[in-house]
Amino acid sequence: MLTIRGHHLLDMLDALGTGKSSHKTLGPVALKIRANPKTPIKVGIGVDDICAPCEWWDHDKSHCKRSLKEHPQDNQNSLDSDANAIRVLGMKPGDVMNADDLYRLIKTKVDKKVFAKQVCVVCRLVAKCAETYEAKIAAAVKALL
Ligand code: SF4
Repeated sequence: MLTIRGHHLLDMLDALGTGKSSHKTLGPVALKIRANPKTPIKVGIGVDDICAPCEWWDHDKSHCKRSLKEHPQDNQNSLDSDANAIRVLGMKPGDVMNADDLYRLIKTKVDKKVFAKQVCVVCRLVAKCAETYEAKIAAAVKALL
């Protein structure tokens, strides 16, 4: 079983769809899921199996150090996006679902508007991500068939 924070479900779309990622900790997790679409995923808020091994995760302070100086709101925004993603799926933190079912659920519940206005609404990158969201969720679902 993998533990994945809500907003990372969406960050993984490109790697799930294409099978490629240069991210050192997200990439291997996404490729593992792609190779085993029945992998159970436990959804969560905060540190997950992608952040925990990441060089940018501060284990003492339990936050990401990557953009702390330039964008001090990023950690809170990420937590909000985690919670938003889980809520719009009708799930609770700690709920478990197989990856293929989970990504089909995301495709059903999260269209471009929900993505931009309800899930990633507080993220500073939302406008750019929203442009490619629907193509990426479709490709991810297809890859997990
Ligand atoms: S620690 Fe920061 S940079 Fe690393 S995976 Fe988590 S959010 Fe991304």
